[in-house]
Amino acid sequence: MSHIVALTGAGISVASGLPTFGDAMWKGQPVRRLLTKSFFLRHPEEFYEYYWAGLRPWRLAKPNAAHRALAEAGAYIITQNIDGLHQAAGSRQVLELHGNLQELVCEHCGAFYPADDWQAVPGIPICPSDQHILKPNVVLFEETPHGFEEALELLAKADWLLVVGTSLQVAPACYLPQFARRWRIPVDIINEAAEINVPRWLKERGLLSN
Ligand SMILES: [Zn+2]
Repeated sequence: MSHIVALTGAGISVASGLPTFGDAMWKGQPVRRLLTKSFFLRHPEEFYEYYWAGLRPWRLAKPNAAHRALAEAGAYIITQNIDGLHQAAGSRQVLELHGNLQELVCEHCGAFYPADDWQAVPGIPICPSDQHILKPNVVLFEETPHGFEEALELLAKADWLLVVGTSLQVAPACYLPQFARRWRIPVDIINEAAEINVPRWLKERGLLSN
């Protein structure tokens, strides 16, 4: 059976009702500004107001046919998304280059905490061990994504790289198709209507049963 690696971005979750960051606004401010490291450090109260009310509700979204088809086909997932929808669809191998909405992290001592435990606590979340401010385990703009080495290891074993719903403008994800081509791994790109075109692509290759 072919070994598919899918590199996914915000476009795959549009049919699940989630916005892309490109032009999203929150209370008159561009989300791209709220989600910078410098904004988090300077205005943690406002940052957390957006995080709890604007970003965390994303985890209530439901996977769509594109997520489900990739899970059913056993594709390995490398994603720029933080919405957890690949796992919700049943994918077991998911590498999250930009973190997730489930955890807060103390960048001082490295401890992780379930975000659920802090949702109802007033004020800014503080590490109980060392009193440093906690940060959502989400890679903010101005920060370095995780897991590029692991992504390359996954890619090296692939028979296909399927790129879904990403404009490939953000490093390091944008380098993966370049590595694939260098290694003579075929690359296909689906940027429109992922919920229709991803299942179709997998069916055409005999990777989906129905
Ligand atoms: Zn700590």
